[in-house]
Amino acid sequence: MTPLAEAQRFVLDAVPAPTVVTIDRSESTWAVLAEPVVAPETGPPFDNSALDGYAVRAIDTVGTPVDLVVTGEVAAGASTDVPVTEGTCVRIMTGAPMPPGADAIVMVERSERLGVDGDGIERARLTGPVDVGTGVRSAGDDVHVGDELFPAGVIVTPPVEAMLASVNAQQVTVFQRPTVAVLSTGDELISDGSPLQPGQIRESNLSMLRGMLLEARCDVIDLGVIRDNEAELERVLFDVADQCDAIVSSGGVSMGDYDIVKAVLGRIADMTWMQIAIKPAKPFAFGTLTRTDGKAVPIFGLPGNPVSSLLSFELLARPALRQMGGHAAVSRMAMRAVTDVDIERRPDGKTHVMRCTGAFESDGRYHVLPVSAQGSHQLAATATADAVILVSDGDGLRAGDEVDALLLTG
Ligand code: AMP
Ligand code: MG
Repeated sequence: MTPLAEAQRFVLDAVPAPTVVTIDRSESTWAVLAEPVVAPETGPPFDNSALDGYAVRAIDTVGTPVDLVVTGEVAAGASTDVPVTEGTCVRIMTGAPMPPGADAIVMVERSERLGVDGDGIERARLTGPVDVGTGVRSAGDDVHVGDELFPAGVIVTPPVEAMLASVNAQQVTVFQRPTVAVLSTGDELISDGSPLQPGQIRESNLSMLRGMLLEARCDVIDLGVIRDNEAELERVLFDVADQCDAIVSSGGVSMGDYDIVKAVLGRIADMTWMQIAIKPAKPFAFGTLTRTDGKAVPIFGLPGNPVSSLLSFELLARPALRQMGGHAAVSRMAMRAVTDVDIERRPDGKTHVMRCTGAFESDGRYHVLPVSAQGSHQLAATATADAVILVSDGDGLRAGDEVDALLLTG
């Protein structure tokens, strides 16, 4: 049996390096920057008001209350050439450019409108003093043109994308999302809702794997269920290899006579068949299929039992696909957790990957409780697990012991 860490390293070392593409910003959400972004524009582009109020010379507000002559008004999107001179002010809205001569804003809450006098002159009473710069957002105090805005490796999260929009970065150079073909195999699998005949079961891994691939920021080609027919599987694999960056299959990698994935991949691809020293999800296959253009497409052969398929994907395929997509964080968030109960197990040479509910408690630690059913076919209990713990070979854990955990949601 291969230790889990060794298998993970083997797969990470074998997958191809990420591909770099330049795309429109609007298509870059959640992509990873492959190159730094240099700000094409300055933000904010001009000195402007942070408040609704009056643009003033700070020196004129010494000794408030003071009454100033209102010589104009400027709204966001407008501008004014009327300078603010001694004894005058300009009514201003948030985001409007500072009028020439003004060096501070008095917020509207510290003012009173005095109206227009008989000579047609409008005045405002300002009730609090301001310093030079109060209420002013200076040009470039977020970013200057030519500055490195974001380094390579940053994920284009929604706020990052907003920042790119604010400085008119129209294109970004990112790592391409891997396109991953997914298929499941087995003559017993029914996915069209029709009544089950003796021996048949509902197919369930495809929707799970599709969702997990999307969550891992991959694009998905769903090949559906392939019957246990070697010629058909071989044709499907060769066809799709030309259109994808990786293939994930579920089922048919263990020792049974109908494990056709094993038969076909053994013939057409360069595969390593592994028995990983974990329970569940012991059988796992990894290799490459060489496509017509010579490119080697990684293939992840996951076991068919739903819980095994899930764990095999999480522990072996997901990190590799994240690496192919250029993500620096390839693994789930790992931490030391504490168990509140005894967890019994017997020595068998394997790490037991137990699904748990978990929560941070008032002591600041992450407390885990294994879900009630740990069988590799018992998806009901595992489906809502928050984390897995890696229980080392031996006799298990006592309540209060610490254990390595991976958060499935982080
Ligand atoms: P296999 O890995 O093909 O030997 O399958 C192991 C077990 O998982 C068998 O009980 C299969 O019926 C079941 N199984 C395989 N593939 C799927 C699937 N896509 N959905 C649900 N169960 C599956
Ligand atoms: Mg099968």
